[in-house]
Amino acid sequence: MLSTAVPSPLSPPPAPRPTPGDADPAEVYRDGLAHGELRFQRCRWCGLRSAQVSVICGACGGSEFSWERSGGQGRIYALPRPNATGEAAHTAVVELDEGLRVRALLAPVAAYRLWAGARVELDAPTARAEHRPIFRPVAS
Ligand SMILES: [Zn+2]
Repeated sequence: MLSTAVPSPLSPPPAPRPTPGDADPAEVYRDGLAHGELRFQRCRWCGLRSAQVSVICGACGGSEFSWERSGGQGRIYALPRPNATGEAAHTAVVELDEGLRVRALLAPVAAYRLWAGARVELDAPTARAEHRPIFRPVAS
């Protein structure tokens, strides 16, 4: 019996290469974080930039986005109140120099270095399980 159905190992079928437009937006975002990049979407219809990963533009309802890369610089926009034990939560809202605000984690640093307005920059790549970028204060 001939085995013509067995594919030759010398000529594997070409794997489809997903284009950014086909990929799961959340996966594109997390992939960026894992590579030390903070990516955001820009609507191809109206140009709105969004730090929230989405499949539908909140302004025009468009469904086509391009990806842009943040320079990774910004300022702490807001910090949560310290908890009952006085410990600061290592989270913040960071306003990027591009004007977008993102929920972020803060690298473990002394609390006195963290205040609203403090300059921060994107820190090391983020583990895939974590969906938020990590920022670290920089001298200003
Ligand atoms: Zn739009």
